[in-house]
Amino acid sequence: QVPDLALPDHLLRAADDRPDAPAVIDGPSGRTLTYGELRRDVRRCAVGLRRRGMRPGDVLAIVAPNSPEWLVACLGAMAAGGVVSGINPLYTADEIAPQLRDHGARFLLTIPPFLPLVQAAAAGIDDLDLLVLGEAEGATPFADVLADGDLPGGLVDPATDLALLPYSSGTTGLAKGVMLTHRAMVTNVEQMQASMALTPDDRSIAAAPFFHAVGLVVVAGVTLRAGGAVVTLPRFEVDAYLGAIAEHRVTVSIVVPPIILAMARHPAVARHDLSSLRLLGCGAAPLGAELQQECAERVGCPVGQGYGMTEAVAAIALFDPTRPVVPGSVGVLLPGVEARIVDVMSGADLGVGETGELVVRGPQLMAGYLNNPEATAATIDTDGWLHTGDLARFDADGNLFVDDRLKELVKVKGLQVAPAELEALLRTHPAVADAAVIPVPDERAGERPKAVVVATGAVDAEELLAFVAARVAPHKRITEVAFVDAIPVSPSGKILRRLLVAQDRAGALSAAPAR
Ligand code: ATP
Ligand code: MG
Repeated sequence: QVPDLALPDHLLRAADDRPDAPAVIDGPSGRTLTYGELRRDVRRCAVGLRRRGMRPGDVLAIVAPNSPEWLVACLGAMAAGGVVSGINPLYTADEIAPQLRDHGARFLLTIPPFLPLVQAAAAGIDDLDLLVLGEAEGATPFADVLADGDLPGGLVDPATDLALLPYSSGTTGLAKGVMLTHRAMVTNVEQMQASMALTPDDRSIAAAPFFHAVGLVVVAGVTLRAGGAVVTLPRFEVDAYLGAIAEHRVTVSIVVPPIILAMARHPAVARHDLSSLRLLGCGAAPLGAELQQECAERVGCPVGQGYGMTEAVAAIALFDPTRPVVPGSVGVLLPGVEARIVDVMSGADLGVGETGELVVRGPQLMAGYLNNPEATAATIDTDGWLHTGDLARFDADGNLFVDDRLKELVKVKGLQVAPAELEALLRTHPAVADAAVIPVPDERAGERPKAVVVATGAVDAEELLAFVAARVAPHKRITEVAFVDAIPVSPSGKILRRLLVAQDRAGALSAAPAR
């Protein structure tokens, strides 16, 4: 049974019993907010925002790196009846502007260095109250917004009122605004905590950004719900991340695949004491079983996977920490979630072990896409089933395996090749640090897979082609290799394949000679 609470009330329950326990810790400085202080600041933020005119349903956009104040502002706005929309601070003004126009933000919180960016993005938008963490000309200091006073009751109806308006990562097209109610968010936090079972002794680290579900909901949401402490990091940088784990004795870290790659292979890992870590989790993009195990062995703690999407708040499936990790699996369905695997062409239901599109239904699904009923109808059918666009299968024990996105498959002579499978394979080659696979047009085959590789040692294209050819069916063979310095990934850990495809079409990824 899901409690009938607004999200801030649900996440701050530890403030009643343990007001002096740490709730949020700023990783770089160690500055700590206890549960009592966090609840006080959240309430003062809510009172202050209402005094500045926030009405139920008003949107607060946050364009800022992770910090304790991000969470204060987020929960404060939600407590005031507002809706929070985190925006990627690495976006350009041209990318931020459509989101501000889409949700009609009335308030925007940023940090001084980003003020020119958000001012450019907000050009032509009237009635936007600019708030800043710190001080800068042209915006109100966030500290001045906080106010003591009473908050009227009944500001939020958890069942129907929106709490969060995140944008999907925009991997397959324009990012879409996803409407999430307080109820959906409380539900997903409960579903995850039912399996993660974090305790007040746990400390997690938010290396993933708060504008994405992994950072905000999986890390901060579940940890606060459990009464543990969240360590915030403004950005992911290997040494700072590992140093913060050691310094703050972090026990749990939920991350995205590029961080697992770093944990498995980066030399800095050997320089830090990671003995406090008892659990690493990974989600948001495909992670191969080999890398998962390589990381677990190096760090000395289990690495479990989860699967989800913005449209389901955060998680749909999660590893079960009480059972041995099943390498390559993204876990089992969360309580209350139903799933089907359907044939991509006919829509017919498929059985155990068969691969098709994953279709899910559950209490944590979105209320729809903002201002986009067509996209909503195309994603959630009238019976409430959400079409994930992901290719997946279940084994006989209910473990879910996600191959890749349908939209990103390489179609070779009518057969489908999942880039993630080839990427995982390439990363097992001793001279390959990282890899991406993209489609290239082919007159005879339609498309064929091309590898984009970051090499650590001397290896040439011929060798990699042969390495893959010896391990996969003929239609999956890589036909071309380009060497690059780094694979571009989004802040949510997804390979920017569309960018690589564009670079390739522009001739910037020519099949480089051996290195
Ligand atoms: P857009 O919908 O705008 O193109 P997006 O789908 O990348 O962006 P998110 O909601 O952040 O935006 O990502 C959800 C997607 O991430 C899932 O549909 C799936 O493709 C992928 N994903 C999430 N977790 C996993 C996982 N454990 N393994 C493989 N893929 C995953
Ligand atoms: Mg999506």
